[in-house]
Amino acid sequence: MFFVEKLKKTLKHPVPKQLYYGPRKHSIVLSQMGTQFSDLNDHQHSKGCADSPTCSCTAGNETIKHYFLDCPEHINCREALLLELNKILPPHTRVSWEILIFGLEDCDLQVNIDLLNIVHQYMQNTNRF
Ligand SMILES: [Zn+2]
Repeated sequence: MFFVEKLKKTLKHPVPKQLYYGPRKHSIVLSQMGTQFSDLNDHQHSKGCADSPTCSCTAGNETIKHYFLDCPEHINCREALLLELNKILPPHTRVSWEILIFGLEDCDLQVNIDLLNIVHQYMQNTNRF
């Protein structure tokens, strides 16, 4: 069995089509987040590759949610992220880290590409990866 076929069978979520768009560097990081193999301290610590899961801000573990939605070091970047998301997401959509890395199942590909571009911009602005 080819690696890609095996990977598709083992992933909880199928690889979202929008991950084929935009800068490959950020798409790779989002894929790593989705499989819990990213450079975030929480992921690295769970694999025994970091001394602590704590974020450099010391306000909590550096989880996906912390990086995108809670970390005080990225507050200005997050304001821009949420502002741009409000322009494209359906009304009353609750922004969660799952939406940011997996996209929205009920929306078409273009909305998910727009969403991904906004997430990529956030990642670029935070300069974390
Ligand atoms: Zn932090």
